[in-house]
Amino acid sequence: MAHLERKLGDRFHLITQNVDGLHSRAGNKRVYEMHGRLDSCYCTACRARFKMKDIDLNQEIPHCVHCANMLRPDIVWFGEIPYYLYEIEELVKNTDFFLIIGTSGVVYPAAGYVMTAKLFGAHTIGLNLEEPDNLSFFDEFHLGNCGDLLPDIIENLISIYG
Ligand SMILES: [Zn+2]
Repeated sequence: MAHLERKLGDRFHLITQNVDGLHSRAGNKRVYEMHGRLDSCYCTACRARFKMKDIDLNQEIPHCVHCANMLRPDIVWFGEIPYYLYEIEELVKNTDFFLIIGTSGVVYPAAGYVMTAKLFGAHTIGLNLEEPDNLSFFDEFHLGNCGDLLPDIIENLISIYG
C-alpha cells in the first residue's frame, strides 16, 4: 500500500480499521485510522493526547499530567463513534477506484463504504480469504490470500491510474 501511495501521491488515501499503526510504519502518509491507535491515549476529561511510550504504565491507573484525570487508550470501543467519518465519506464519494482488503463486510459503518463508492461511480475491488457479506457491491472480487494477490492488483492499478 505504501508503494501504491508513492505512485499516486496525494490522490491516494488509506482508510483502516486496524489500530496497530502498521500502515504508517510501512510508509503510508495519508492514513485515516477510523478506530484509533493503540500507541496513543487521551485524557478522559481534558482530551489531551499522549504517546503511550511517554506514559508511566506502572501506575495502577495512568493519569493526565495536565489535569490528573484518568487516561484511556485512543481506540474506538464498541458503541463509540469512529474517527474521521465526515472525511472518509467525502473521500469514498469522490474516488475513481476503491480497494477493500481483508474485511468481512459485516462491521458498519466501514462495511457500507463499498456501497457508497459504487453508487458514486467508483470501480470497487475486494480481496479477502472468504466472500464478504456485501459481495454484490464489488465490481471485482479476488478470493484468496491478500499477500499473494495484492502485488499484481497494485501493479495493475498503477498502470491505469499512476
Ligand atoms: Zn487531562
